[in-house]
Amino acid sequence: MPAGYTRRDGALFCDGVALDTIADRVGTPVYVYSANTIRNQYQRLAAAVEGLPVHVHYSVKANSSLAILALLRSLGAGVDIVSGGELHRALEAGFAGSDIVFSGVGKTPAELERAVRAGVRSINVESEGELAVLQDVAHRIGVVAPVVLRVNPDVAVDTPHPYTRTGERGMKFGIPLDRVIAVARAMSHMTDVKLIGLASHLGSQIGDATPYALAAKALVQLKREIEGENLAQLTTLDLGGGLGVTDDDGSSLDLSAYADALRIAAAEPGVEILIEPGRFLVAESGVLVTRVLYRKHSGGKEIVITDAGMNDFIRPSLYASHHAIDSASSDAEPTLRANIVGPVCESGDFFANNRLIADVAPGDLLVLRATGAYGYSMASNYNSRPRPAEVLVDGSRFAVITERESDADLTRRETFAPDWIED
Ligand SMILES: *Cc1c(COP(=O)(O)O)cnc(C)c1O
Repeated sequence: MPAGYTRRDGALFCDGVALDTIADRVGTPVYVYSANTIRNQYQRLAAAVEGLPVHVHYSVKANSSLAILALLRSLGAGVDIVSGGELHRALEAGFAGSDIVFSGVGKTPAELERAVRAGVRSINVESEGELAVLQDVAHRIGVVAPVVLRVNPDVAVDTPHPYTRTGERGMKFGIPLDRVIAVARAMSHMTDVKLIGLASHLGSQIGDATPYALAAKALVQLKREIEGENLAQLTTLDLGGGLGVTDDDGSSLDLSAYADALRIAAAEPGVEILIEPGRFLVAESGVLVTRVLYRKHSGGKEIVITDAGMNDFIRPSLYASHHAIDSASSDAEPTLRANIVGPVCESGDFFANNRLIADVAPGDLLVLRATGAYGYSMASNYNSRPRPAEVLVDGSRFAVITERESDADLTRRETFAPDWIED
């Protein structure tokens, strides 16, 4: 069981609260998060980088619920955002502009303007085109925009799925390594953008520190070239996120080796190192609790149908991710080999195939582990299914932090009587 989850007389608890209590009170499917586990992960990371000039900027897209953001803010984290919507969330959760870095490969002019007006710490620019748009926006509103160039360092990572790799040549992310100096030269003539640093982000679910060391070396090398040409004085090196966690695939990043990689960048005088962990801080804190609706037998296979589907949790369908599945009420030896599937009309709507689980019956609760990251934040309304509730547990207390959507929520912004506009 991940930290924060224990059994008492067979029943699964998140810290001091039984998951079946939450399911009874709030309904299912429901995401449950342990506040203490998030605190512990933050402290583990902080301890690993102690003494280094490292600042944690939580990647909002992993879990963007306001209460989670507020919890991480209370621990001292800043944030890394990738959209105007995430800017809105960060500001709502009480972050100051100076706590925010803005990444993303396709920022719109409107998003750039909002971010500059909010006084973000940096815009992590990913292309020459974006830089030109940012220069125009900043000029128009009369602010010098702080820019970190996101470099594509051409460092390959071995993640469980190709969709979670971002730092190789030819991928859409970042400015190619061999263009960075040219961009820095161009920037030295631009009046409304100021180059303050370099960034890289290699992918997600990285279990080995070596790629971080390679990226750190690449950024340091570029920094020295840029400063050697007197193009700018760089004060930020941002090594992105991607720190792998256990349970999902069994491997996890060695934090002391990771800290050694950061040390390569931190050895440069006068720099602050930013890191952008998302999954690492929240994945293991969360579970998805779902009720078994039906069992059936087909083509020699046992099929367990749950009330959660791919719209609630898409990672198994999208990334073939592995999540342990437990009974909430029994720690009996797993004896049932089954496909665990959702109600959505797609054959891709499954949580596990051919998995050995407890012998469950309709009405029983199942718990998918390590779903605190990229779970609720990727949920959709596909099949017109209202999105689930989110619950935060803190010690012996729990609170609904996101209400379950209602059917009315589904159609609130729609009309059956179009208000036609003549061209
Ligand atoms: C998604 C993302 C992260 C966080 O990745 P994790 O694997 O959740 O740590 C960090 N930085 C950037 C730029 C990202 O896009």
